[in-house]
Amino acid sequence: MSVTTIRDVGIPLAVLGNKSGFKGVEGNGLVRGDVILDGGCVAGMVPATVHRDQPVILFPKLVDPHCHLDKCHTADRLDGIGGNLTEAIEAQRRDKDNWTGNDIRTRASRGLREYHASGTGLVRSHVDWGDTATPPSAWHVLRELAEERDDITLQLAALTSPLQMAEPEMASDIAKAIPEGHALGMFVFGQQGYETAIRNAFEQAQSRNLLLDFHVDEGLDPALNGLEVIADIALELNHSGPIMCGHAVSLSLRDQTTVGRIADKLARAEIAVTMLPSTNLYLQGRNGGTPKDRGVTLAHELHRAGVRVLLGNDNVRDAFCPVGRHDPLFALELGILSAHLDPPFDRWLPSITTDAAQAMGHAPTYVRGAALPDLLVAQASDLSNLICGASLAPATQLSEVTQ
Ligand SMILES: [Zn+2]
Repeated sequence: MSVTTIRDVGIPLAVLGNKSGFKGVEGNGLVRGDVILDGGCVAGMVPATVHRDQPVILFPKLVDPHCHLDKCHTADRLDGIGGNLTEAIEAQRRDKDNWTGNDIRTRASRGLREYHASGTGLVRSHVDWGDTATPPSAWHVLRELAEERDDITLQLAALTSPLQMAEPEMASDIAKAIPEGHALGMFVFGQQGYETAIRNAFEQAQSRNLLLDFHVDEGLDPALNGLEVIADIALELNHSGPIMCGHAVSLSLRDQTTVGRIADKLARAEIAVTMLPSTNLYLQGRNGGTPKDRGVTLAHELHRAGVRVLLGNDNVRDAFCPVGRHDPLFALELGILSAHLDPPFDRWLPSITTDAAQAMGHAPTYVRGAALPDLLVAQASDLSNLICGASLAPATQLSEVTQ
C-alpha cells in the first residue's frame, strides 16, 4: 500500500479519535500539520513542512439525527401556518391530501440533494405513520429512496402516536413493518395512556432489534414529563439498544434538582437528547408578540451530566418551520445562538458527527483511520469559520504528495 502526504491540514481534535502519532501543532481545538495517508486512510501527522495561503480543515461527513423528509418543502402551499404546535399539526394534516407518491418523492429527493450538498453522509428521517397499522405511502417512498441513493445513508423512524402504541396488537403490527436498523418512534406529549404505549414500544424494539426515537415533551408546560418516564422504563428494562429523545422542551422549565435527577437517569440509560432549535424557536413561546421563552432544551446541563446531546434540523419549509435548511452546520449554528453553546466549539462538533452516528446505531467516523471519501475539507482557518459558511468539498479533492 502506498504512503502519501497532504500538506498543512487542520483536524478538529474532537473528531480525530486517538491522537497518538499525530505530531502537529495543537491550538483552538485543532491539530495542524502534514497528514500521512497509508493505503488511502488517515494514519498520522507530522509537523507541516510548508504552509498554505488558505488554511483547510479535514473532518468527517456530517450527520443529521432528526428530520422530516415526508413533510419538507410544503410551506409554499400551506394555509394556516404561523401558529403554535397544535395549529402546525393541523395545517400539515390538511396538506396530506397532496401527498401522492410522486409529490413525496419529489420533495424528499430535493431534501436528500440538499443534505448531500451540505456534506451530510447519514440522516434519520421520521415518517408520519397515520392512524392505522398499515405503513403510509411516504414510508414506502422513503425506503425506495434509501435503497436508490449511494451518496447518503438514510435511516427511517416510524412516527406513531400513543393511541396506536398503547394497543399491543397494533404496536406489534407497526413494529413488524420496520426493518432492522431503522427506528420505532412516537410523539409523546402527555396523552392518555402514553406510559403503556412507551412500554409497548420498548418491548417491540427489544423483540425486533429496532432503535427507539421519541418526540417528547414538545411544549412549555412543566408538567410534561415523558422524558423521565422513558428513562425510568429504559432503566427498569435494562434496555441496551440506542434510544433518542428529541425536543425535551419542558425540561427547560423544571427546577434545578429535578433537572439533575432526570439528567442522571438519561445518562445512566444512555439516552441521547436531540436539540432541535429551528422548530422550537419558531413554535414555542407564542404570545401574539415577540417570544420570551426560547423553548430549546437544556444542552449545557445535559452535556455536563454526561448525556449525549445531538443537534438536528427537524422541519425544513413545512407547517412546523417555514424556513430552515437540510444542513447540520446550520443546526449547530442555531444551537450556538439559541442555547449559548460558546467557543471552543470543538466539544459540540460530535453533536452533528460522531455522537450523532453512535446514537443512530452506526459506527462513528473519526478522522484517524478514515478513508478520504468519508471525509470533507473546508476552506477554513478555525471552527467558527467552519461552522458559518466555509466552502466545503470532498476530501478526495485534496492533492496528495507521494513520499
Ligand atoms: Zn421532529
